[in-house]
Amino acid sequence: MQSFDVVVIGAGAAGLFCAGQAGQRGLKVLLVDHSDKLGEKIRISGGGRCNFTNRDLEPAAPHKHFLGDNPNFCRSALARYTPQDFIALVQKHGIPFHEKHKGQLFGDRSADDFIGMLVAECEAGQVTRWQPCSVKAIRSCDADDGARYEIDTDRGPVRSRNVVIATGGLSIPKIGATDFGYRIARQFGLRLVEPRPALVPLTFDGDAWAPYSQLAGLALPVQISTVRPEPVEGPAPRKASTSSARTVSFHEDLLFTHRGLSGPAVLQISSYWRPGQPIRIDLAPGVDLKEALLQAKARSRKLVANELAALVPARLADAWVQQDAAWQKPIGDATDKALLALAERLSRWELVPTGTEGYKKAEVTAGGVDTRDLSSQTMESKQPGLFFIGEVVDVTGWLGGYNFQWAWASAHACAQALAAR
Ligand code: FAD
Repeated sequence: MQSFDVVVIGAGAAGLFCAGQAGQRGLKVLLVDHSDKLGEKIRISGGGRCNFTNRDLEPAAPHKHFLGDNPNFCRSALARYTPQDFIALVQKHGIPFHEKHKGQLFGDRSADDFIGMLVAECEAGQVTRWQPCSVKAIRSCDADDGARYEIDTDRGPVRSRNVVIATGGLSIPKIGATDFGYRIARQFGLRLVEPRPALVPLTFDGDAWAPYSQLAGLALPVQISTVRPEPVEGPAPRKASTSSARTVSFHEDLLFTHRGLSGPAVLQISSYWRPGQPIRIDLAPGVDLKEALLQAKARSRKLVANELAALVPARLADAWVQQDAAWQKPIGDATDKALLALAERLSRWELVPTGTEGYKKAEVTAGGVDTRDLSSQTMESKQPGLFFIGEVVDVTGWLGGYNFQWAWASAHACAQALAAR
């Protein structure tokens, strides 16, 4: 039976990077993936250009850009492998890139550049790759050569001293996502934080949404907020937080769809949203709508909708005034009370989503292997020699390159630890 120092399961962002790094540190590495193509999520990421990291990441304040039951868990790995480190690797491979807004870095050409880079890094580390190859079972063993695991694969059994699970989350099942990582965690007695779709469009009840479905396709900048759920069990006793301290908000673009809301603003807030919880949207951030409408009333003979169209997109203004007869008249004839109510409803639009578009549309899976059962230094679990990296762990980044940076950093911490043994 073949024996390895490390078997990495999952050839996505985290698995490819970890395998290459471990191989280059002199370890004998096998990388296995059940899909015939590798790095499929990298290929479709960032609209095909791969938003590979974010310059604005602050490892000292991980709670700013990452969620999880313990947002501090990711701090050590992120501090030891920074966006600058990954940028240096991208530059070494001669891949051209550019910055979009808010520190987001994208490839100039195609996400394939990054897959090619990760494969080249694996080749430099003489990593053995088996694809497509399914893993049927993983068992503990106590072999003479120091191997601690026996792994049954399509290509026969192998032994290894260490196993790294890098099988990602549940989002986009059609390109190979599975619950394999969670099953292995359970098999070895590790806890799980219930997985849920994140960075995902939100949906609304058909009848309640009917007045807004005509706005499908409309995009506009908004301020969006919700209340951060209380952590189930923190790493240390916490003071009861006030709801304003727990409010999380984003200034990003919103997109109306036929079934609900999408766009970066909604994807970001969806990671914090829980069923039954309201979200609040300011559809005209930075505009004093009350003042502007009352001033317009004093000087204008136009319809409310026409005056409103100077403050928000015309389609939104038209659809909005249809909600109340008190707004369907010349602005001079509308009461102050009606105009104030209109301003209030646009700047504090509160709504309760019915659900999300689910894993088929979610960019990531929040929740996963409970960080209480993992070392933040090495990514090793309570089960010696069994490591978890990337999205399978209960660490979820904001939109904007943070999830890949977590994949690189957790993979790097793991490879470093493996090589140090
Ligand atoms: P993955 O990349 O999902 O890799 C998991 C691998 O494991 C896959 O190759 C899969 O085939 C394999 N696997 C699964 N089950 C098994 C099994 N049973 N046996 C063997 N192999 C298995 N993040 C960003 O930071 N920037 C972006 O621009 C960005 N864009 C995105 C766009 C889309 C549409 C989506 C869906 C996600 C995007 N993300 C982005 C998120 C990012 O892709 C993931 O967070 C990241 O790929 C996670 O890396 P990973 O290695 O943990 O998992």
